[in-house]
Amino acid sequence: MPSALEFSTEVIIVGAGLSGLQAAHSLTDAGITSVVLEARARVGGKTLSIRNGDGVGIADLGAEWLNDTTQPRVYKLAEKLGLEFNEVKVQGESVLQGFENELFRHEYGQQAPLPNGEGDLVNLMKELFEAEYIGMDLEKFDECQHDDVTLDEFVRSRGGGSGTLATVAVWTRVMLGCEPSELSASYFFVYCKSQGGLMKMRSSKLQGRYVTVKTGTQSIAEGLLRLLPSGSVKLSTAVKSIVQRDDSVEVLSMDGHVFRGKKVILAISTPLYLKINFEPPLPAGKAFLVSSTRLGYYTKTLATYSKPWWRDNGLSGASQSFLGPAAATRDTSDDAVSKYRITSFIAGSPGEQWSQLDANQRKAAALGQLADMFGSDEANHPTEYIEHQWSAEEWSMGCPCPYTPPGVLRKAGNHLTEPYRHIHFVGTETAPDWKGYMEGALASGSRGAEEIVKLLREPVA
Ligand SMILES: Cc1cc2nc3c(=O)[nH]c(=O)nc-3n(C[C@H](O)[C@H](O)[C@H](O)COP(=O)(O)OP(=O)(O)OC[C@H]3O[C@@H](n4cnc5c(N)ncnc54)[C@H](O)[C@@H]3O)c2cc1C
Repeated sequence: MPSALEFSTEVIIVGAGLSGLQAAHSLTDAGITSVVLEARARVGGKTLSIRNGDGVGIADLGAEWLNDTTQPRVYKLAEKLGLEFNEVKVQGESVLQGFENELFRHEYGQQAPLPNGEGDLVNLMKELFEAEYIGMDLEKFDECQHDDVTLDEFVRSRGGGSGTLATVAVWTRVMLGCEPSELSASYFFVYCKSQGGLMKMRSSKLQGRYVTVKTGTQSIAEGLLRLLPSGSVKLSTAVKSIVQRDDSVEVLSMDGHVFRGKKVILAISTPLYLKINFEPPLPAGKAFLVSSTRLGYYTKTLATYSKPWWRDNGLSGASQSFLGPAAATRDTSDDAVSKYRITSFIAGSPGEQWSQLDANQRKAAALGQLADMFGSDEANHPTEYIEHQWSAEEWSMGCPCPYTPPGVLRKAGNHLTEPYRHIHFVGTETAPDWKGYMEGALASGSRGAEEIVKLLREPVA
């Protein structure tokens, strides 16, 4: 083994996802030195962009969409880095696949016509949710209502039937990789409010998913890396312990290196704190939050075709399914390079069941669902098929954002961002706005850096 490195700096940042890299960038701008320790052999965390198999064009296996209007931080940063964008255009109808594989075609962005008047009930539920989250203060979790019930219990108590519950399950699966019976109603409302409303998950000018980055979203992280002083990001350096002393911290990596500094920024997902030994231990409220916070099951599959056959049938490639394995799909084609693609979001408990199949069975189930929903055997013959199971990734353990079951947010949510001695906590889930998105990750990184600049540079009054 190479001899152990001993490294001294002002701030040690754990995690080279967008939040950690943004924190390092903001500290550098303020004249504060830092080192970023990253467990993986790459930067970007939950952004991961690979070349298509034939070398032409990019596939985003993690984050894909951003918005030039509602997500100014990430858009402006990508622009500053010289990245180019593709606009998302949803043309054609959407499909809803019911419990018995019955298909409902409808206008994209409109509620699907569910039987027994449940389409109206779903619209009513959207209004009820909005009435709950509109007045929420996203920095005062101890005031949150409905943290004692699951979202499933909330919907049932407001008269939701099977179609309404199944629609709500599509939302929780796509947004958080979990079931409505697993997360507190309150957490879901916080999440909706944080992105400016439940329907912001759609693709249009003022909603979440409007543009993609031509070279993939990981190039935002790679661009940030290039702005940092050379050698200040250490890849393949997983942190195993953080020891706090009166006026310093010592961070130990799994391969035996020691990093000394004045402050630490933890830029990893809350459930991953459990992999780190804290000395002294995290305070009781924070430890409760960490051990109670969960990550959902999430996989993206990408099926690429030589032509966009679904468009010939007036379909947009957008779908929702009560049956699974995918909860939803989108057309993620790059027409400029003739890559016609449907991305499936296989999440929540149907995703977990699908993950138990062997690789051939998983592929057959994912493609078979596309053939059923879009009415063509062409779905079964992609030129390339990729699947990426985020829950199986040691340094993500799930995605896109952690959630809490009932009884956690109100009791311990305020500990999310509260520094513990020399340790400051960032990461997308700590952001009040766009929690779970790249925008939230960048905002949290800047906030963590600001906390430290105040402590290290600004004179005490
Ligand atoms: C499938 C998928 C689809 C998504 N779609 C979108 C989208 O369309 N638009 C959007 O805006 N967002 C999307 N997101 C969410 C977005 O990717 C994340 O919100 C954002 O990238 C999170 O950044 P982060 O820095 O908070 O965390 P992460 O990206 O998780 O970064 C944390 C880093 O810490 C490292 N790490 C963990 N533990 C340790 C340790 N002990 N020692 C050292 N390093 C450690 C990890 O390897 C990782 O690199 C998606 C995510 C996924 C996975």
